[in-house]
Amino acid sequence: MGVAGLVQFPEGVFVWGPHVVDTGVSLRADLEREFGLPVLVDNDANAAAWAEHEIGSGRGYDDMLLVTLGTGIGGAVIIGGELRRGRSFAGEWGHMMFERNGERCACGKRGCWETVASGPALVRLAREFIFQNPDGRLAHRLREPFTGEDVTEAADEGDETARGLVAQVGADLGRGLCNLIAILDPEIIVVGGGLGSVGEALLGPARRVAADALHGGAHRKLPPIVVAELGPAAGAAGAAMMASDLAAGRASVAPAR
Ligand SMILES: [Zn+2]
Repeated sequence: MGVAGLVQFPEGVFVWGPHVVDTGVSLRADLEREFGLPVLVDNDANAAAWAEHEIGSGRGYDDMLLVTLGTGIGGAVIIGGELRRGRSFAGEWGHMMFERNGERCACGKRGCWETVASGPALVRLAREFIFQNPDGRLAHRLREPFTGEDVTEAADEGDETARGLVAQVGADLGRGLCNLIAILDPEIIVVGGGLGSVGEALLGPARRVAADALHGGAHRKLPPIVVAELGPAAGAAGAAMMASDLAAGRASVAPAR
């Protein structure tokens, strides 16, 4: 199964998550005791990345990053065709330091990347605009409480202000992606999650900003930055595939130690 938050792998202990109350839950041990079957527990972005790598947008690429955009930013690293978890928690780049003295993040710190490139960031930008322009079209269209999805819908339907806000989030997405490229130089970046499914209105600005900010950009190519293919089912599909691989003894997702 895939779980949102820090998961100790392969022990399957849910350690902590900014949107979850419980900490230190021995999910794998508890489920194995309950069902009497072997259980594999991993971070949900790792599971989704594995599905995208095997049967989604990342198939055919050995070095792939998944960036999931929604309430926050999650992610996963595949290098040489294998998931890389670090000591367990790699790919949590939604919490890389992005802005000094920035907005408060769900994790309790300030200025994390996900405070400027996520559904809540889009809502905050829209609220700020509406506060300044209380009689504008967007103020009439978006009634509280509204979501990031409501803003992207307005953008889809041609609202220029909403399109601008989505592009602004896309630009900050691109800055962060440029950092990831500088560190890992992947063959492809797959962008998933609810906000990621917006597509070109978001990824177009992200690609432009990432290309512009990439060091040596005149002499190298930006890797493809593409939308995930598998949608919300990716995590469940990936978890099933990882469990099946593990049962078959394939090393690609087996516990490293
Ligand atoms: Zn954070």
